Amino acid sequence: MKRRDFLTFAGMAAIAAPVAGSLLSFKSGAEQFTGHTFPELGYAFNALEPYIDAKTMELHYNKHHRGYYTKFVDAIKGTGLENQPMEVIFTKVSQLGEAVRNNGGGYYNHNLFWGNMAPQQKPMPETLKKEIEKNFGSVDGFKEKFGTAAKTLFGSGWAWLALGNDGKLFITSMPNQDNPLMDIAPQRGVPLLALDVWEHAYYLKYQNRRAEYADNFWNVVNWDVVDKRLKAANG
Ligand code: MN
Repeated sequence: MKRRDFLTFAGMAAIAAPVAGSLLSFKSGAEQFTGHTFPELGYAFNALEPYIDAKTMELHYNKHHRGYYTKFVDAIKGTGLENQPMEVIFTKVSQLGEAVRNNGGGYYNHNLFWGNMAPQQKPMPETLKKEIEKNFGSVDGFKEKFGTAAKTLFGSGWAWLALGNDGKLFITSMPNQDNPLMDIAPQRGVPLLALDVWEHAYYLKYQNRRAEYADNFWNVVNWDVVDKRLKAANG
């Protein structure tokens, strides 16, 4: 992985979370916003092999993710939303129509997803581990609960670890391209870890075996990024 690319993603993670952590800070945090750009992938298509195959990564990033981005940019043209961060847009997404909700979610969620994966596994930072143990009893308990959310979601969608507005971590799954930042979310919070469980995310390699894909996800999670998002969200 190129160092610069990693920094791009780390920076994105740092930008994405703090704003959302305190919704009021959007006003002062607006200067961090650099426009809706399609991000570089911080690693090669084959970097997550054998857990996520190169062909899936290439199609997922170049076709699916780019498609959401392009449609989102089309949908907001001339609306003024060009100048607003996604975290702000999501707070009123219920009023903005399906194209913004679906494509804006698709654009943003994949940014988070690519960012919270890495080819090399490093140990979970202590601060994150403590928070996870505090909220879920143990790291294994957390993984089991998150895995269940991913495996049991009916149809297409995402599994999430998020920091709730009450300061507690929670696990949820949401359909389609919805995420916990959206005003339509049953439980709202700042996303820390995202797992895409649409069939396009795993079907070439795993076919119908979503559970195997979800279990293998733990081999490629970038805990440093999750830890950074948590720290940023806590302000
Ligand atoms: Mn996807």
